[in-house]
Amino acid sequence: MNQNDKRLDEYAALLVRVGVNIQKGQTLVLACPVECAFFARKCATVAYEAGCREVVMNWRDDVMSRLKYLHAENDVFDTVAPWYADMMNGYAEKGAAYLAISATDPMNLLGVDADRMRRAEIASGKALQGFYAAQMANGFPWCIGAMPIPSWARKVFPDKTEDEAVDALWDAIFASVRITGDGRAVEKWQEHLSALDRRTEVLNGYRLASLHYKNSLGTDFTIGLAKGHIWQSGAEKCKAGVPFIANIPTEEIFTAPDRESAEGVICASMPLVHNGNVIRDIRFTVKGGKIVEATAAEGEDVLRAAISVDEGASYFGEVALVPYDSPISNQKILYFNTLFDENASCHLAFGEAYPCIEGGAEMTKDELKKRGLNDSVTHVDFMIGTPDLTITGMTEDGREIPVFIDGNFVF
Ligand code: ZN
Ligand code: ZN
Repeated sequence: MNQNDKRLDEYAALLVRVGVNIQKGQTLVLACPVECAFFARKCATVAYEAGCREVVMNWRDDVMSRLKYLHAENDVFDTVAPWYADMMNGYAEKGAAYLAISATDPMNLLGVDADRMRRAEIASGKALQGFYAAQMANGFPWCIGAMPIPSWARKVFPDKTEDEAVDALWDAIFASVRITGDGRAVEKWQEHLSALDRRTEVLNGYRLASLHYKNSLGTDFTIGLAKGHIWQSGAEKCKAGVPFIANIPTEEIFTAPDRESAEGVICASMPLVHNGNVIRDIRFTVKGGKIVEATAAEGEDVLRAAISVDEGASYFGEVALVPYDSPISNQKILYFNTLFDENASCHLAFGEAYPCIEGGAEMTKDELKKRGLNDSVTHVDFMIGTPDLTITGMTEDGREIPVFIDGNFVF
């Protein structure tokens, strides 16, 4: 990739101006892998041009995190450095914007002790509680975007040379985020967001009590939706009233399930990359909302660890709809990266629920729990969409509403 490629500037502008929608005098906390420093500088340039107060860097590095999991002393994984927690919680409290450039080798943590990862996740969930609670309630604007690094690109395109793979992944990412170099990305995003809005309104109009999923993979699954749930998509508004887009790309329309009313068998349609491990052919048996049996053809131990991080990790926290016939899905590329893969497919998440119910953003954790929303330090999306998936909604007054037929929206 030529660092002067016009599409890179368009992308940095999309993430900073539309993604987190940086405001005059606002701080930008920018997380970025060290390999992508040139792109972080582009983002910082756009931010300062828009009047950003300060760009605070949070550098990431796959190699360092693998070394730490392999060699650091054991008790390190039960704590988070106070200065790091203060930084994340403190800027969140002040309403800073958080932009994360995600780029990681999906196999980076292969062979790492699953218990160390589980404990690190618990420690981080506790120490960064202020940050995560504010993020879930849109207390500040945040956006996750992605760019290639060689190790990741080679996993996506194993038959190409390193340079070819990186270029191919850039092209695929640009196509996913509607950037062609014609300078119209922002306009195209506005059209896309209004298309998502239309379907979101239709779904909200039905007031569905539950969804029933069925396909030839073996999925036969019913999940209740939280009472007073709201379907959401695309742009959201942060507390200060400024719109932002949490994920670029985004194709999903999502809401919160009722914690205790899922039943049946649900099968994943794509591999799940979790904490650097690949989990294939996930199959969950669910009773009373809880995953009572979890199997996988590969990575079953990682899957079991993931659903036992805490009590809520074995219950569901998200229901998301994505047509099988949609831009990322049609690329037929397995990105091994949730940001892209979840936007290629209908998915569910186990773990924490977003407060997608009326008045949810103002409710405490206990109030949300009472309304049936799941509580956990974790939130893991897994894909369930197939070309033959049917989803049928049941309204509160008992009417059946076809939502998906043959993998796509009916409306
Ligand atoms: Zn989702
Ligand atoms: Zn999710």
